[in-house]
Amino acid sequence: MLSTRATEDAGSRRPSGVLIGVLALQGDFEAHERVLRRLGAGVREVRVIDDLDGIAGLVIPGGESTTMMFGVQREGLAEPLRELVAGGLPVLGSCAGLIMLDCAHLGLMDIRAQRNAFGRQIKSFETDLDVAGLPGGPLHGVFIRAPWIAEHGDGVEILAEVDGHPVAAREGRLLAVAFHTELTEDDRLHVLLLEWAQSASAQAPRG
Ligand code: GLN
Repeated sequence: MLSTRATEDAGSRRPSGVLIGVLALQGDFEAHERVLRRLGAGVREVRVIDDLDGIAGLVIPGGESTTMMFGVQREGLAEPLRELVAGGLPVLGSCAGLIMLDCAHLGLMDIRAQRNAFGRQIKSFETDLDVAGLPGGPLHGVFIRAPWIAEHGDGVEILAEVDGHPVAAREGRLLAVAFHTELTEDDRLHVLLLEWAQSASAQAPRG
């Protein structure tokens, strides 16, 4: 039987490569996979609990957070994900992925997202953002029915804002952005995730 493991790249078997899971229940997961492969990472589509085994980082893509959360609940992924994050798993959540990270969904970050905060589809837009701590100048963000962060705890660092509303935040090795960069050529956020994943796997005890 073909398992989802068949989608795992050879890159994951390179000693220097890290294996990144991409939550592939719904949404634009394939665009993230293309970026990660371009950067030389191994990629595994995550749909069931077993797919989480051995990943060094996770991307939660954009899409539709209600549908994605339904899939997470159906597959019982929430608790295993919480355990992995408590153990230091780095995560990049983009757009619906930001919503999934918030306290009303997976509860992985101390943020509360406001869905469709910029308005409906017609309010989709692109803009250059200054992201705190990200070298290389402004980041081009594509906002598609995007959320913003309505509330956040003290441990959350807001990295970027649009019209005074937080649209990028970091809490430890969790990075939530309200916009899409996987649709652009700018892979700096994915590079950051890979760096965190590499250092997390270097620290992990070898069994
Ligand atoms: N509006 C979507 C939601 O609420 C998110 C949109 C996106 O991921 N591009 O889930």
